[in-house]
Amino acid sequence: MSDPLWTSEVFIDACGGTAKGDVGAHITGISIDSRTLEPGDAFIAIKGDRLDGHDYVAAALEAGASLALVAEDSLGDLPDDGRYVVVDDPLEAMRALGVAARARTNARIVAVTGSVGKTGTKEALRLALAPSGKVHASVASFNNHWGVPLTLARMPADTDFGVFEIGMNHAGEITPLVQMVRPHVAIITTVEAVHIEFFESVEKIAQAKAEIFNGLEPDGVAILNRDNKQYDLLRFLAATAAVRNVQTFGQIGSEDSHLKMAVATDDGTSVEASILGQDVSYGIGAPGAHLVQNSLAVLTAVADLGADLQEGAAALGGMTAPKGRGEQCRLSVGGGEVQLIDESYNANPASMRAAFSVLAQATLGGSGRRIAVIGDMRELGTDADQLHAELEGPIREAAIDRVFCAGPHMAALWDKLPDDVKAHHREEAKDLIELLLKDVQPGDVVMIKGSLGTRMGPLVEALKKEY
Ligand code: ATP
Ligand code: MG
Repeated sequence: MSDPLWTSEVFIDACGGTAKGDVGAHITGISIDSRTLEPGDAFIAIKGDRLDGHDYVAAALEAGASLALVAEDSLGDLPDDGRYVVVDDPLEAMRALGVAARARTNARIVAVTGSVGKTGTKEALRLALAPSGKVHASVASFNNHWGVPLTLARMPADTDFGVFEIGMNHAGEITPLVQMVRPHVAIITTVEAVHIEFFESVEKIAQAKAEIFNGLEPDGVAILNRDNKQYDLLRFLAATAAVRNVQTFGQIGSEDSHLKMAVATDDGTSVEASILGQDVSYGIGAPGAHLVQNSLAVLTAVADLGADLQEGAAALGGMTAPKGRGEQCRLSVGGGEVQLIDESYNANPASMRAAFSVLAQATLGGSGRRIAVIGDMRELGTDADQLHAELEGPIREAAIDRVFCAGPHMAALWDKLPDDVKAHHREEAKDLIELLLKDVQPGDVVMIKGSLGTRMGPLVEALKKEY
């Protein structure tokens, strides 16, 4: 049997709790959700904005939790015969557990932040580091005040490489998280006007991202995107935070890591690049210039962490687009095929532009057209209308033939679009369903994207159902 994630003794010591009842000797995992809990997991009862984990302690114990980490003041409401570790504040205890997990490992650690591309970069790192050792990485986008400590607490002691996504909606959120993670390498993918309603300006966002430098290990490396408009500011902030090693990636030939050639293939991109002076050729298993860009940061980190660069590059061929984030499929429509690019999970100006460029590269059949079905991008604050209107340029550059729009902010774009690309604009995405179903023809490529709240998902489902 492999070593348990934690022995109860070390677990209790690390989180400063008191055992009550018959807690198991071994803990094989950490869970904060009783629905996905595996027998042997420790269940940590976290109080969120909507739910209180203490309401699910009974279910967690029933499902085979080795113990439940609970707040002392909730004990009265819990079953008497439970297996508990009692603390003042379970979230605080999970943080302490995370700190202990970090302290006991010799793993090389990489942290990823940025306005977009965090999860994609994290997943690419997971793949690229795997040939060189045992990798532990965040699940999904577990990147916030509970996601980061949870990921740390789940890190096995014998991990070789730890990969952490760190996100934020407000200034001040990254510092305490990165100080727990203590990365050897920190990547800032890109800084854009995302969640800008919580910030005065893009510069303020850059400052908040630069908090990632605050937790970098003393000889750590910061990897920055040379093509990003905020690069100079980030470089300055890195110097202010006394980061000695800054490496850059980008298109331009003089960067530490740069692109030499990128050619779109059937299902991805074939790339030649120079990574910190070493030449590599590799395929990326999913399409998009943004993934090529992210891969330069990924491979730079692979080299910095002492992992095998050539094997890491080769592993990127296994990349796939996650659900709702660029996933592609073919539908049979009227005796031919329509290619669907599902970007319905989320949207902001940067990822919209990335999606248009994927659409621009798509291969059309016969008299096929490029169709963009786009919904409002949320959380853009007072500049929202302008940021929507500014999509007109990228739409033109991507030679998109037809545009469907959903949502009130999209009116600002709609007004600027030339008449011959305008299909329909509706306030609600669901009112585009019938119009879109009638419009698609064999050979078309359809890209559907909008913020989660704009509810573009039902359009994807309707197309898949009908065809
Ligand atoms: P979240 O804040 O929701 O966790 P994230 O930063 O983890 O987002 P991803 O999930 O990796 O971001 O990517 C979201 C979308 O952004 C992708 O579907 C892709 O279209 C786009 N994207 C990824 N990387 C980049 C990039 N470097 N530049 C522009 N767009 C990108
Ligand atoms: Mg993410």
